[in-house]
Amino acid sequence: MVTEAFITLVFSRPRDPHAEPAFRHMVNEVLEAAGHLPAVIIPHFYDAMPGGPVFTYLRRLTTDIILLAPLYPRAAQLVLRANGLRYRLARQTDDVPQRQNQSDRRLWAFDYREYGSFEVLRNAVAALVAEYLQGAGSLAGERPLVEEIEEATRSRWYPVIDDEACVNCFECLNFCLFGVFDVNTEGRVFTAQPDQCRPGCPACARVCPAGAIVFPLYPDPKIAGGDVVEEGQIIPLVDLKSGIGTVTTPQKPSVAGNSSQAPRPTGDRADDKESHPPTKQTLQQWLCQADDDAH
Ligand code: SF4
Ligand code: SF4
Repeated sequence: MVTEAFITLVFSRPRDPHAEPAFRHMVNEVLEAAGHLPAVIIPHFYDAMPGGPVFTYLRRLTTDIILLAPLYPRAAQLVLRANGLRYRLARQTDDVPQRQNQSDRRLWAFDYREYGSFEVLRNAVAALVAEYLQGAGSLAGERPLVEEIEEATRSRWYPVIDDEACVNCFECLNFCLFGVFDVNTEGRVFTAQPDQCRPGCPACARVCPAGAIVFPLYPDPKIAGGDVVEEGQIIPLVDLKSGIGTVTTPQKPSVAGNSSQAPRPTGDRADDKESHPPTKQTLQQWLCQADDDAH
């Protein structure tokens, strides 16, 4: 069933089946903290096929999306775009931008590999939901509707093009020996045969003069769609956390858009960002820990 609600939580599973228990735990925690929203659990959506159940479902969604996935936000946006789903990528710490028209759908993408602690991720989503719900009425009391979309996926490897950055120079088209790229009816380069790409190879991303080719699962963040926003342009999520405390359910800040008015954390957590700055990959390590525990 596709919901008529205005925002949907989408959880994309990790590839590693051993991380599944940790993933499920994360889903439950986030639903508890940011609950009362419809939610859907999907396989790792980079591996989903364009005509398969995952993208068929997502194409029918008319809502904004909060996406939790093991991909950089820009990569997540481009994978969706490669499958016909165009979303405006919103920063988690922005004021919630107004929807400009019916087709202007917004995407808040959380890369759950990157969070310094599970609590930070949970609280960041809860804060966003609270901000989003301002003026939209409370959903308190409604039961979250959680769906799960199954698709028999395999590990794929292919480039996604940022068509807003692409200067249509044809470098990639001329460079690739495997027919991955072609030109569409508008004369624009596009990824015509993604699965012809050689697994693990990011060569064309290196020849693209515009940095428009992204391989979402490549280890180098510059090629995998890691955030290119200049330092200082966005507020680190740990700062957002310090403003919202340890909420467990969506709380409306007392002053619109002013998180400094929200309750301060109590106890040792109040100064976490100074004394224990979260390090990248910690949540990923946590997922790996679940892997170890499963053995
Ligand atoms: S090399 Fe880059 S900029 Fe040139 S056509 Fe390909 S994607 Fe576009
Ligand atoms: S990585 Fe290599 S095989 Fe894959 S699309 Fe680029 S040039 Fe072609």
